[in-house]
Amino acid sequence: MKWLAGLTSLALLALAAPASAVWVDRTEAVMGTRVYVQLWADDAEKGNAAIESVMEEMRRIDALMSHYKPDSQVSLINQHAAKEPVQVDPELFDLLRLSTHFSEITLGAFDITYASVGYLYNYPLHVHPTEEQIRTALPAVNWRNLQFDAAHHTIRFGRPGMRIDLGGIAKGYAVDRGVAILKARGIQHALVTAGGDSRLLGDHLGRPWLVSIAHPDEPHNPDKVVTRIPLSDAAVSTSGDYERYFDEDGVRYHHIIDPHTGHPATKVRSATIIGPTATQTDGLSKTAFVLGPEKALEIINRMPDFDAVLVTPAGKLLYSNGLRPPKPRPPGAPVAAPSPAPSSH
Ligand code: ADP
Ligand code: MG
Repeated sequence: MKWLAGLTSLALLALAAPASAVWVDRTEAVMGTRVYVQLWADDAEKGNAAIESVMEEMRRIDALMSHYKPDSQVSLINQHAAKEPVQVDPELFDLLRLSTHFSEITLGAFDITYASVGYLYNYPLHVHPTEEQIRTALPAVNWRNLQFDAAHHTIRFGRPGMRIDLGGIAKGYAVDRGVAILKARGIQHALVTAGGDSRLLGDHLGRPWLVSIAHPDEPHNPDKVVTRIPLSDAAVSTSGDYERYFDEDGVRYHHIIDPHTGHPATKVRSATIIGPTATQTDGLSKTAFVLGPEKALEIINRMPDFDAVLVTPAGKLLYSNGLRPPKPRPPGAPVAAPSPAPSSH
């Protein structure tokens, strides 16, 4: 009868919406990636204005946090923080603190100072560092050497040679900001995507949104996705070794770096995390990628609001417990008795 409930809510939604209500969508290149917004609005004009306000927010965040823009606050940190404390906006300060919190709970698998060695890779130009260069740069990779002063909103590098890069969390943050803006405008059904990070606001008019997970060998082939997951009111981030990469002598040099080795991580081909906010799922998708299946699933299975889908190098799909169908009961197995009501003492 689930379909009947779905149909009823669809009919109710159609009745509640004005006749002019429409889906509007737009794609733009922002934050060095593809930003896509799709939403259900009372009319096309309101919908397009809402999309524009999301794009504007993405441009603002990019200007503040991109390490490619020489006058962004992140670039100012990279230029000066080894010599003196650098003051930043509270918003950026908070995201930097949150990044180090992720490092703490992920045993350093997520680390924005990965950039101290990460900057030696140039994917479009097919450049990667030598072992000697990695050995020299690697000691500067350590989030514990980021020194924060909460009273003055300053950050300082504890040693020379350090760099930071928010490419692993800023898109998720921007997606969350975009959804907050849409909510404030009264939008109830929307999809906001930046690169590998998406958030779904509400459902797709009575049905869940269907989120496809790309096949690592054919990421742009819609007929070859590894799975589709129905989701509403959730965030989902995928990190893949097929996004920014080049191959050389049978080695894939890609953009997810293991902060402990300075090399691209190899334990999975892609890691998808589902959770409440895109800032969280973005940070955790790198974590799962770097840690690999065993540790990643152990961590995600301990986090009640999160799930994971991993694609191994052999092409196997691994799911966290929350996405696995319950095991069929063997014939004749005793049915578990209902647990007694909890008693209070
Ligand atoms: P997308 O940018 O398409 O959403 P990801 O979420 O997988 O893709 O983020 C990849 C980016 O994360 C890299 O380009 C780099 O900027 C950053 N990054 C790579 N390795 C790490 C790491 N170990 N910790 C934190 N950030 C990382
Ligand atoms: Mg991302």
